Amino acid sequence: MGGMRVTFFGVRGSTPFSAASHTGFGGNTCSVLVQVGDESPILLDMGSGLFGYAQQLAGRAIHGTVLLTHLHWDHVAGLPFFSPVLMPGGQIDIYGPPDEGMSLDEALNRLVSPPFFPVTMDDFAGEIRIHDFWDSEMKIGSATIRCRPVPHTSATSGYRIEVGDAVVVYVPDHQQPLDDPTWVADSVLELCDGADLLIHDGQYPPALFEKRAHWGHSTPGYAVEVARQAGVQSLALFSHDPMHTDEQLEAIEVDAKEKGAVAGVPEVFSAREGMTLHFG
Ligand SMILES: [Zn+2]
Repeated sequence: MGGMRVTFFGVRGSTPFSAASHTGFGGNTCSVLVQVGDESPILLDMGSGLFGYAQQLAGRAIHGTVLLTHLHWDHVAGLPFFSPVLMPGGQIDIYGPPDEGMSLDEALNRLVSPPFFPVTMDDFAGEIRIHDFWDSEMKIGSATIRCRPVPHTSATSGYRIEVGDAVVVYVPDHQQPLDDPTWVADSVLELCDGADLLIHDGQYPPALFEKRAHWGHSTPGYAVEVARQAGVQSLALFSHDPMHTDEQLEAIEVDAKEKGAVAGVPEVFSAREGMTLHFG
């Protein structure tokens, strides 16, 4: 099967931010590329990091698939700037949840239209096909995809991608329970079960979580707890807060590694823009 290659193009939550203090981890929002051999690319979310992937393609159109977790800006803002689908021959299928009474197609077309953007997606030369996808399964090439609901502030999914024996799971935004930091939703445990890699929300260290407990995110400690309960091999903290500098994120990473060692999670690290990992 050849396994999977996972590349991080954007690892921040909330909003992109560029500063000298942020160059180590990167300032772009949620965008992850999954490659299975030489099959069509699978993209996890379409944050500002999608632009970096487009730069790497250097003008080539692609046929690809996007697995969208939800509609918040930090997960969709890269769509209208994704040059591979703005050109003839480009084609992407976007799968994600309907929300607020709108189909995914309606919601994304509303986002990419005046006055928010100068043209509509109908004006793009490439083809964008949009599909409602929620709490379901499908195959993309040799990858098996499982989609399950994840607690957040709006309709939000997580994705499990299996290729042969290799399992990568993507849960970028996840509301930590307010009353019990050891409770994990069955849908999340099902997604994460025995994963080689879990890419998980770790946006708020405890002091920040206290101030923003209802904002839909997790502490690094809760990410470790999810990984422990699900028997995950490697945990990548993700959705870093845009306020946090490289120095602060390194301190968060050290603390999370210690928590992981105590919990028996074999590997814990913080995702960095440009990092590529191989599984299977
Ligand atoms: Zn969100």
